[in-house]
Amino acid sequence: MIDEPPHKTEYRPDIDKGGPDGFPAHSAAASIRFGVSGRCPRCGEGRLFTGYLKITDRCDVCGLSFAGHDVGDGPVVPAILVIGGIVVGLAWTMEVTFQPPLWAHAALWGPLTLGLSLGMLPLLKGLSVALQFRLRSTEEEPKPGGG
Ligand SMILES: [Zn+2]
Repeated sequence: MIDEPPHKTEYRPDIDKGGPDGFPAHSAAASIRFGVSGRCPRCGEGRLFTGYLKITDRCDVCGLSFAGHDVGDGPVVPAILVIGGIVVGLAWTMEVTFQPPLWAHAALWGPLTLGLSLGMLPLLKGLSVALQFRLRSTEEEPKPGGG
């Protein structure tokens, strides 16, 4: 008897997007981890991005189409909220504590904001694609009555 790999679970077509097509049915957490790391949320092996933020048309390993996975500006909003909170909080704390000149604020917070934005956007975009994959597959035929 062959033991199943620990990541493979019973196929549930209502939530699993793998299984019968030959790819393991990963958990939602695994799909999200794959997406955040820039890999295909179905197989976990193919690259999700062709450039810095451009989603590839199709996974080069499992063939999953990403044509309908347009996350638009979705990842930008949480990035603005999180990075804005971090930078404004740090700037306010520094101003209250040290009262530095304005050039010090400009020299610190501009590059920090740019660096955090450039670092966080691919993670959030991969997360958005993985969530779309798990929650709303664009390759499925519409079901009668929605859902
Ligand atoms: Zn794939």
